[in-house]
Amino acid sequence: MATLRAAADDPVSYASAWKRTHGKPVIGSFPMNFPSELVHAAGALPVIIQESKTPITEGRSMLAEFYCGYTRSVADQAAIGELDVFDGFVAADHCVQLLGAVDAIRYVRPEKPVHFAQFTSAMDDVLAKPRVDDRIVDMKSEIETVTGTSVTDDALATSVALFNANRRALREFYDLRRSGAVRITAGEMQLLVKSSMVMDVAEHTGILETIRDNLNVGEPDTSVVRLHLSGHFCHAPKPEILDVIEESGGLVVDDDLYTGYRYISTDVPETGDRLGALSTWYMERNLNAPCPTRVTSKVDWDTYLLDSLTRSRSVGVVVLIAKFCEPHMLYYPELRKALDVHDVPSLLVETEHEGIPVESLRTKMETFIERIRRQSASVPA
Ligand code: SF4
Repeated sequence: MATLRAAADDPVSYASAWKRTHGKPVIGSFPMNFPSELVHAAGALPVIIQESKTPITEGRSMLAEFYCGYTRSVADQAAIGELDVFDGFVAADHCVQLLGAVDAIRYVRPEKPVHFAQFTSAMDDVLAKPRVDDRIVDMKSEIETVTGTSVTDDALATSVALFNANRRALREFYDLRRSGAVRITAGEMQLLVKSSMVMDVAEHTGILETIRDNLNVGEPDTSVVRLHLSGHFCHAPKPEILDVIEESGGLVVDDDLYTGYRYISTDVPETGDRLGALSTWYMERNLNAPCPTRVTSKVDWDTYLLDSLTRSRSVGVVVLIAKFCEPHMLYYPELRKALDVHDVPSLLVETEHEGIPVESLRTKMETFIERIRRQSASVPA
């Protein structure tokens, strides 16, 4: 875990060390839908840019105060030179705030290649997949230019297989956690997923396998309140928030966080057209873990969430929402309504880059857990 923690806590140092050792480029990408396999197939290290722990200073004037903490942190990291190790940047979403952060990089580092591939978000549109296919072809060509390496079908097949193996290994940890056979805290799970976003994929999978082989499998702890953690796009919630949730008597047994199950929910098909498989992954991912930044009538997040609760036997939901995250704020009332209709207790926690008062969160969490316990006790056996 120490290796994973070091990489997750300081992705830039990991990327610098990797670059020195391998003599190859490192490419920064942004949440939530960029296929890292494309960069890996070009021999470079793909790293999903994380929110920095440091306070926002230089970047403060670059984006409005009402941009989410992640985007303001990205702008700040670019402004203070923290992201200079990266040889280029790629993005594949079009949340307006994320675009602002990407533009801030262009502004402060005009010499760095920055490629934006706008993936269609109207998923039911018959032209969505062909359009995304085109964007992926453009992105491949841009990555080849920046890295100076052609992405061959064979290299892409190898990269896809490696990333699928990594996602499968992480999903095993999710299955173990849901079953209760292994107690994996929310902080530990976040560490496993976050480190996979920044580390060399084969190295990461090797470490996951070692950890899995040394897990203590036992009987589920029936004294804890099983919780589902929902939301929080684009970056990892601060570990102290996750700790308080579990110190209050809850146990997170499932989640749909981006730095969580959302990131690993779907594999890329390993047969057929290699580039087309990446757009298939993009389309299918939204069916497996619906995201309010995409538009579709085929699935919705509230139904998905209710089904997930049944699957994991969670009795309450903690919704983590990054302050000023518009897609999440717009969808939240719908989610809340569905949870209320089904008598599922839920607690909304708004997070900020600058942190939130932990002791006040502790009081809210303890009350929430107590409410769930009383509600369960009042239901006739
Ligand atoms: S989706 Fe939300 S968290 Fe992500 S960049 Fe947009 S506003 Fe920020």
